[in-house]
Amino acid sequence: MVAISFNSVLIIAGISVLVPVVLGLLPRFPVPGVVLQVVAGIIVGPSVLGWARIDPAVEVLSDLGLGMLLFLAGLEIDVDRLRGPLARLAGVAFAVSAALGLLCAFFFWLAGQAAEPFLLAIILMSTSAGLLLPLLKDAGEAATEFGQLVMTAAAVAEIVPIMLMSLFFSAASKTTADQLVSLAIFLALLVLIGLILARVRRLRGLDRLLDHLEDRSGQLRVRATLTLALACGVLAYRFGFASILGAFAAGLLVRLIEFSGREPNPQFIAKLEGIGFGFLIPIFFISTGVAFQLKALLSHPVALAEVPLFLVALLVVRGLPALLYRRSTGTRRAVAAGLLQATTLTFVIVATEIGVATGKLTPTEAAALVAAGLLSAALFPAGATRLLRHLPLFSSCGGSRLGHGRRASYAHIMDVGLRAVVVGGGIGGLAAAVALSRAGIDVQVYEQARELTEVGAGVALAPNGLRILDRLGAGAGVARLGARHVSTQLRLADGQPASHEPHQFARAGRNVGIHRADLLALLASQLPDGTVRTEHRCTGFSQDAGSATVVFADGTTATADVVIGADGIHSVLQGFVVEPAEPVFSGVVAYRGLVPRLDEYPAGTMRMWVGEGKHFLVFPVRAGQLLNYVGFVPSGTSVRESWSAAGDPVALAAQFAGWDPVIGRVIAAITAPGGSGFQWGMYDRAPLPRWSSGRLTLLGDAAHPMLPHLGQGVNQALEDAVALATLLAACASSAGVPRALTAYEELRRERTARVQLGSRRNGAGYDSSGSQLTDRRWIYEYDAWAEAAALAAALASA
Ligand code: FAD
Repeated sequence: MVAISFNSVLIIAGISVLVPVVLGLLPRFPVPGVVLQVVAGIIVGPSVLGWARIDPAVEVLSDLGLGMLLFLAGLEIDVDRLRGPLARLAGVAFAVSAALGLLCAFFFWLAGQAAEPFLLAIILMSTSAGLLLPLLKDAGEAATEFGQLVMTAAAVAEIVPIMLMSLFFSAASKTTADQLVSLAIFLALLVLIGLILARVRRLRGLDRLLDHLEDRSGQLRVRATLTLALACGVLAYRFGFASILGAFAAGLLVRLIEFSGREPNPQFIAKLEGIGFGFLIPIFFISTGVAFQLKALLSHPVALAEVPLFLVALLVVRGLPALLYRRSTGTRRAVAAGLLQATTLTFVIVATEIGVATGKLTPTEAAALVAAGLLSAALFPAGATRLLRHLPLFSSCGGSRLGHGRRASYAHIMDVGLRAVVVGGGIGGLAAAVALSRAGIDVQVYEQARELTEVGAGVALAPNGLRILDRLGAGAGVARLGARHVSTQLRLADGQPASHEPHQFARAGRNVGIHRADLLALLASQLPDGTVRTEHRCTGFSQDAGSATVVFADGTTATADVVIGADGIHSVLQGFVVEPAEPVFSGVVAYRGLVPRLDEYPAGTMRMWVGEGKHFLVFPVRAGQLLNYVGFVPSGTSVRESWSAAGDPVALAAQFAGWDPVIGRVIAAITAPGGSGFQWGMYDRAPLPRWSSGRLTLLGDAAHPMLPHLGQGVNQALEDAVALATLLAACASSAGVPRALTAYEELRRERTARVQLGSRRNGAGYDSSGSQLTDRRWIYEYDAWAEAAALAAALASA
C-alpha cells in the first residue's frame, strides 16, 4: 500500500485557521479572505518556503473542495431572479462581454499570446459570484435593486462560462457536435433526476423522517445531498464534461427541490457550508496558491508583463458593459457594478487548471491569469466598496424602473428646503423621517409617549420591506439584530406538513424576524439628533395655502410645509382627511408575546400551524435568542385593540389543546423566566377613500390598518415612507406639496387596499387548514422606491 503523507494537508489546514483569525483581528484589512488564502498558499508552497506541496492527499481534498465550491455556488443561484427585467439587462450586458472577450482574446492571439483564444475569451467573461455576495451584504446592497442586478449578472457570468468550458474544453476528445448531443442527454438526465427527486420529496411523512434522522449520526439529508453532488459530478465526467458542471447542476437541483415551497431543514445549509467553507473549500484555495508557479512567472518577463494586461482585459470585458446599467442605477453605481463584475478568481483557477490539463494553456500563462484574477479580487471589490460607501439614497439609483424604460434624474432633489412634521414615532413614522431626512427634507417627529418604545413582540420583515430598510441604511443592523428565517414551514394542527403552492407562504431565506423595539431603535439611530420630540400628543390640525400646523395637548404647535399622520390605527389626523369611522373588529383575538429560545424548536424556522378556525405562528427574533409567538383564536366579543392587555396562557393552552406538542411547549414557556404574553383584539378598516387633504397626508396604520395575516403592516408602512419621501423630494418648491401628496396617495392607495383585503382573505385561508392562500409574489417583488421614482420622473416631465 502506498503511504500517504498528511504533512502538507496539515500545513494547509493550519493556514485555513489562521486566515480568518487575521481578518477577525484586522476587520479593516482591505483584502478578501480568499485572496489571503491563495497568497498564503504561495508563501508555504514550493515557490517560496517549500513547506507544502501538492501530494495525493492534497490533490483529492482540493478536488473535493472545488466540487463543493461549485455545488454551493449552484445553491446560491436564485432561479426566480433569472427571469424578468433584471435578467434581461444582465443578459444583454453579458452578451456585450462575450463579444468583447472574443475581441480581446483575438488581440492577445495577434500579439503572439500562446493561449487558446477561445479559452482566454471564456475566462475573461467570467465573474466570481461567491466573492460578491458577502461584499454586497456588507455594503447594505444585497437586497437592493442594484445588488440584485449585480448578483444576477454574476450568476449569468458564472453559469455560461462553466457550460462553455464543459462543452469545448473537457478532457474527452469528441467533436463539438458530439459534445452538444452529450450535453443535451446529460441535461435531460438531470431534469429526470430532478423530477424524480421532487416527487420523492413530496412523499408524506418524509420531512418528519428526514428531520428525525438529521439530528442523529445518520445525517440523512446531508449525506443524500453530497451523494447527489458526487453522482452529478461523476455523471458529467462520464459524458465527457468537467465534473464541476455536475457539481454546479447538483447545487441548482437541490435549491429548486428544497427551496421551492418545501421545507429546508434550518441547519441543512449551515451543515453544508460547514463542510464546504469549514474544511474543503479553503484547501482548494490554499492549494491553488501552493501550486502557483511563482518562479516560472517571475522568470518569464513576457508572462509577468501579461498580468496587468489581463487585469485591464478583465476590466474591459466585464467592467465596461456595466455602463449599460447607468440608466437604471446612475453612473456611480454602474462603475461600482463594473468593478464587481470584473472580479473573477474561482473560475480562473478552475479554467486554467483544465486548460493546463488539456494542453490549451502553458503553466506560465495559467500563472499569469491566476495572478490577474488574484489582483482583480484584491483591488476591484475594494474600489467598488469605496464608491458605494455613503452613497445617498435618493441621488443613487438614477431612478428608472427596470424594464419600464422610464428615467428620473435626482440631481436636483437634495436639500429641497421643505419642512415636514411627522406625528407618531412608531415604525412607520420613524421610517418616514429617515427617508425624508435622507432626501434632504428638514423633518421633526412628534410622539405622544414619554419615550420611544415598542412592546415586546416581533415583526416579520418581508423582501419588499427588507429592500427598503437596506436603502435606508439599516440593512446591516437588521442582519445583526434580526433572525433570518432559513426555513418557513406550514403545518397542520397535528404537526404534519400542510401543502401549499411555492409562493403562498413566506419563502425560506427571504424573511427576517426582528424585535419591534430593535427595529425602532435602528431607525431612530439613523436620524439626526433632536429629530424626535416625545410627550407631544397631537390633538388638532389646521392649514392654509402656504403651510400646515399641528396642535398638541399642551397647547404648543408645530408648523411645516407638510404634515404626515403616522399616528397609528386610532389616528387623530385621519379625522382631518375623512369622516371619522371606527375600526372593524375581525372576530379574532391574538395572544402574542416572546419566549426565550427553546432547544426543541428548530433554529431559524418560521412555523405556522393551521387548523379549523385557529392558527398559531412562531418565529425567531433577536439573532435567534427569542421566539415570537402569536396564537389566533375566534372570539364572539370584541376585545380592545391594544398592545398591552395581558394575555392568559391557560386560556391560550386550552385553545390549542390536542395540537402539535411543540405549541404546548411554547405556551408553557410564557410563564417561565423571560416569557411574556399579551392579548390583542384584531381590528382593521375598510380601505379609506382618501389619504390626503392639502398639505396633510396619512401613512402606515393611520392610512391602512390591516390584519396581520400577510405580515405586511410594517412592510407597507416602510413602502409608504420611501414612496412619500421620493415624491416630496421631487417637489421644486413648497407649492408642489399638495400635488406630490396626491401622487403619493394615487401610487399607494390601490396597492395597500389590495393588501388589506388580501390579509382578511388569507386569515380565512389559515383558518381552513391552509387552503386558498394568497400568492405573495406581487407583494414581495414590488420595489416601492423604484415605482415612486418612476412616477416622480413622469410628473416632472409632464
Ligand atoms: P404604530 O406602530 O401604531 O405607531 C403609531 C405611533 O403614533 C405610536 O408610537 C403612538 O404612540 C403614536 N401616536 C398615536 N397617536 C398619537 C398622537 N395623537 N400624537 C402623537 N403620537 C401619537 N406587520 C408586519 O409587517 N409584519 C408582521 O409580522 C406584523 N406582525 C404583527 C403582529 C402583531 C401582533 C401586530 C399587532 C401587528 C403586526 N404587524 C405586522 C403590523 C404592524 O405592527 C403595524 O402595521 C405597524 O406597526 C404600524 O406602524 P405605524 O407606525 O403606522 O403605527
